[in-house]
Amino acid sequence: MRILVTGAAGFLGSHLADRLLSEGHSVVGVDNFATGFRENLDHLAHELRFEFKELDICAPFDPGRVDYVFNFASPASPPEYLRLAIETLRTGSAGVENTLEIAARYGAGFLHASTSECYGDPLEHPQSESYWGHVNPVGPRSVYDEAKRYAEALTMAYHRTRGVNTHLARIFNTYGPRLHPDDGRVISNFIMQALRGEPLTVYGDGSQTRSFCFVDDLIEGMVRLSRSDEHLPVNLGNPAEFTILECAQAVLEATGSKSELRFEALPVDDPTRRCPDIAKARALLGWEPRVPLKEGLRRSLDFFRAKAGLPVSVAG
Ligand code: NAD
Ligand code: UDP
Repeated sequence: MRILVTGAAGFLGSHLADRLLSEGHSVVGVDNFATGFRENLDHLAHELRFEFKELDICAPFDPGRVDYVFNFASPASPPEYLRLAIETLRTGSAGVENTLEIAARYGAGFLHASTSECYGDPLEHPQSESYWGHVNPVGPRSVYDEAKRYAEALTMAYHRTRGVNTHLARIFNTYGPRLHPDDGRVISNFIMQALRGEPLTVYGDGSQTRSFCFVDDLIEGMVRLSRSDEHLPVNLGNPAEFTILECAQAVLEATGSKSELRFEALPVDDPTRRCPDIAKARALLGWEPRVPLKEGLRRSLDFFRAKAGLPVSVAG
C-alpha cells in the first residue's frame, strides 16, 4: 500500500512510519515541524519507499493516490498546544477536513489520532468509550480537547455521509524513545530532570493519576484498529494507573537518580485521573499492552541519555 502519515516528524508519527515501512508499504510523510523534528526521520534518509513533504495540513494538499491515511498531525503536549492555541484548533478542524477529503478522493482508509482528553476531567472511572466526557469548553485546554472532539464528529460525518472507511483511536498517555525531551510531558520532563540531577517538577500534590503506554504497544494497537471494521472510537492505552508521585518514583528507580521532588502549581483543568477501559480493544482487536512502566522506562533511557549528552548503555 501507499500510505499517508501526517505528523510524521513527531513522536508517534515517526514510529508509525517505521512500522509501516518494515511491513513493506510505501509511506508519504508530511509535517510542518510545528512540534516535530527532522531528526526523527533522519534514519529514513536513504529509504526509497519513504517520501517526505514539508507542509501544513491546514491548507488543502494532494499527496497523489494513497490507500490509507493516518492523521497524526497536531500539537500534543499541553505546553505546546497552549503556545500554539489557534494552530491547534485549525489543525484539528481544517487540517482534519483536508485529510478526510484525501481519503474520500482516493477511496482510502482513514485513522485519526484522537485522545483521552475527549473525556476531560472524567467523572467515570475507568473511562470506557461510551462515556461522553466532562470537558471545559472554554478553559485553556479547550483548544486541544474541543479540536479533538470536533475532529471525531467530523470523522464520523465523513463515514456516515461520504462512506469513508474511518477509524478513531482514543490514545492515552504514551511514551518512549523520540518523545521530545523538552516538550513538557511528564515522562520526558522527569527522565531529563533525573538524568541531569535536577529536581523532578511535580505539579499539584502529585496525587493525580495517568496510565502510561509504551510506544511499541500503542503502534501495534493502531495498526490493528486501522485494519478492523470498527468506526466508533476505541481506547488505546495501558490500564495500569499511577499517581504522578508513583511515576516520579519509577523514574528515580529506573535512572538511579538521587534527584529530589519540587512541587509546583497544578495547571488549570489538569485532569485528576485517567485510566482506559480497554475491554473494547481487547475484544475487537485481540490487543492489550505488554510492556509495563518499569520496562518501558528502561527501554527509553538510552534515547534520553543521548539527549542529555550522557553515554548510552553498551547493550543499546
Ligand atoms: P508530536 O508533537 O511529537 O507530533 C505531532 C506532529 O504533528 C509534529 O511533528 C508536528 O510538527 C506535526 N504537526 C502539528 N500540526 C501540524 C500541521 N498543521 N501540519 C502538519 N504537521 C503538523 O506528538 P505525538 O505525541 O507524536 O502525537 C501524535 C498524535 O497523537 C497527535 O494528534 C496527538 O494529539 C495524538 N495523541 C498523542 C498522545 C501521546 O501520549 N503521545 C496521546 C493522545 C493523543
Ligand atoms: N506533570 C507533572 N510534572 C511535569 C509535567 C507534567 O507533574 O513536569 C503532570 C501534569 O500536571 C499531569 C500529568 O503529569 O497531571 C501528565 O502530564 P502530561 O503533560 O504528560 O500529559 P496530560 O495527560 O496532562 O496531557
